[in-house]
Amino acid sequence: MKYEGTVVQVRQETPRVKTIRVSWPGIEALQFVPGQFFMLSIPGFVNQAGVQVRRAYSIASAPLDKGFVEFTITSKTPTGLSARAHELKVGDALSLDGPAGHFGLKRPVKDIAFIAGGSGVSSLRAMYRQLLLEGHPGPITLLFGFHAPEDFIFKDELAELQRRHPNFKVIPTITTDDPAWTGKRGRVTELIPQLFADTKDSDFYLCGPPAMVEDTIKTLAGIGVARHRIFREVW
Ligand SMILES: Cc1cc2nc3c(=O)[nH]c(=O)nc-3n(C[C@H](O)[C@H](O)[C@H](O)COP(=O)(O)OP(=O)(O)OC[C@H]3O[C@@H](n4cnc5c(N)ncnc54)[C@H](O)[C@@H]3O)c2cc1C
Repeated sequence: MKYEGTVVQVRQETPRVKTIRVSWPGIEALQFVPGQFFMLSIPGFVNQAGVQVRRAYSIASAPLDKGFVEFTITSKTPTGLSARAHELKVGDALSLDGPAGHFGLKRPVKDIAFIAGGSGVSSLRAMYRQLLLEGHPGPITLLFGFHAPEDFIFKDELAELQRRHPNFKVIPTITTDDPAWTGKRGRVTELIPQLFADTKDSDFYLCGPPAMVEDTIKTLAGIGVARHRIFREVW
């Protein structure tokens, strides 16, 4: 389905990441599975051949976040749609085509672990928000790896969600050498054996860059997680 949306809110998450909230008349009828994406285009933003530029962006909000959808976009190249999306202001138009994609929350789930690399956290946000808003009773863990402390997307929101939901545990980890950081250090793969060796029967949802996702699958397999319990999206 195609929708003509309007930007209703813009939030700066980190120096290179913004969340764009979009709405349109009749959005209440929209149905999607957390993990799906839309193809986005900005009216008038065309390539050198004059063709409308379209890129895939995961829906970062949950179906229970009624009345809008959100996209969390990392500015990649100065000439790309992502950089153009960072210029969007409240009231600007944005075209959407979707929702699409097979990466989605499977049911029923009990114990569930999300493992994110960088801005890959945005599609997982749709899933953990949905579970928390539904009142999912089991443990939900988010292991979130990124470069430096300033790259901690959704930092304040995750702290608040943890305060409100005792079953939600967030484990951020950085790969730089920042002396002020008091949390975990190292790649997510280095932390997996100690964190998940006793919870191999969880469902694992991964999203991030290709190398991170492939290494994470191998590491999970190495501690005995069954392949059918691992779901992934790669950008
Ligand atoms: C299913 C799916 C979901 C996605 N969800 C998200 C999301 O939620 N958030 C998000 O931020 N992204 C997401 N992406 C990625 C997104 O679709 C775009 O690929 C990304 O935003 C880059 O698009 P762009 O037009 O800005 O850059 P493009 O111009 O398409 O450039 C893409 C890459 O090409 C290379 N490149 C391009 N031009 C040059 C150049 N001149 N010199 C050198 N290298 C160059 C760079 O490596 C650059 O990173 C998703 C992708 C998929 C497939």
